[in-house]
Amino acid sequence: MTLTVLMNAGPWLSVPPPGYGGIENIIATLVPELRRLGVRVVLASVDSSTLPVDEKMSVFADGQFAALQRPYNQVCGIAQAHLAGVVRELHARDDIDLVHDHVEAVGLATLAAMGPAGPPALHTLHWDLAKHPALYGSLDGGARVRVNGVSASQLARAPQALREHSVGHVHLSTPLAVDADRRPRPEKGEHLLILGRINPGKGQDVGARLAHKVGFPLVLAGPVGPYHRPAELAAAGDEARQNPDVRFFLDEVAPHVDGDLVRWVGTVAGQERDDLLASARASLFPLRWEEPGGTAVVESLALGTPVVATGRGCLPELIEHGRTGLLTADEEELGELVLAADLLDPDECRRVAAQRFTPAVMAERYVELYQRVRQLAGAPRL
Ligand code: UDP
Repeated sequence: MTLTVLMNAGPWLSVPPPGYGGIENIIATLVPELRRLGVRVVLASVDSSTLPVDEKMSVFADGQFAALQRPYNQVCGIAQAHLAGVVRELHARDDIDLVHDHVEAVGLATLAAMGPAGPPALHTLHWDLAKHPALYGSLDGGARVRVNGVSASQLARAPQALREHSVGHVHLSTPLAVDADRRPRPEKGEHLLILGRINPGKGQDVGARLAHKVGFPLVLAGPVGPYHRPAELAAAGDEARQNPDVRFFLDEVAPHVDGDLVRWVGTVAGQERDDLLASARASLFPLRWEEPGGTAVVESLALGTPVVATGRGCLPELIEHGRTGLLTADEEELGELVLAADLLDPDECRRVAAQRFTPAVMAERYVELYQRVRQLAGAPRL
């Protein structure tokens, strides 16, 4: 018998995402592999999603990412409208064996509120939850709703109410890890790279100061709030400062961005992103938050680029210190580690990625969890 899963990606970005998009990237990585294992996938997303699936459902035509700038009640309104569509779909049919939900907090609450009327559900936690316990509230009536983390450290920090409903963790993966160990050795350039949203937690300000200290070029790639291109941010004027990540960038990072040694290139995608990452001498993660899953970390390894990072969150689970990267508890030490990173072997990074972080490894683990969640809900094994 086939397992039919409703994969709830939410209304923010299409799947795959046009550039930045951690959650949407992971869904785009997971779904083809699940389908190869015989799982039928109904994707609840926006209509502009192009990921091949067995069926699609959507409330919005396009990704609502830009609306995340609006007041909180309007943001919730969009999430709720999307979820109402999902719930209508679930009430209208009886062939969904499991919901795999990725919509932060409200997705979980909505599924829990469905009670026995809803199918068993697994909600993947994507954030650093210790900071947001209130977001998740209680899981009353949610016995059929379970959660999984994207790292052991993320789950360990999660509120007790969530941990009680946990079925374990699944590390993130990347399609770049497929055959990573068989690809030719990448040409290395001079630059360090920080790939990710510009955000205080990701520490681009620390990275920019460090680049000036050690004299290595640093490329910052990623969006600043909703702005993907430097020209877009410049055109937005003062209004852009309403966004905290924009304020962080303008006040803490931009003073060190000289366009020469330190550059902000905006969001990079596709081959441009991969080339930038593969040719970096090291990938830098000067983290100030507990990184929950670290997609960019596993992408870096898959492309043969060692990681230099503050060992926070999931970093010690993903990086073997001295083999695939260098970790420190003290951000002042990052400069020395960057110098030492040239001694690490890019091939070793790719070998580890090809063993641990392929989409197949992730999908097999999720199928196990789907069966476990159904079993806990008293549903028959499929
Ligand atoms: N990303 C990208 N282009 C950018 C910046 C980021 O494609 O300019 C991608 C990156 O490769 C990764 C994802 O966005 O796949 C970010 O996920 P991660 O888990 O590293 O960070 P998050 O933003 O989810 O905390």
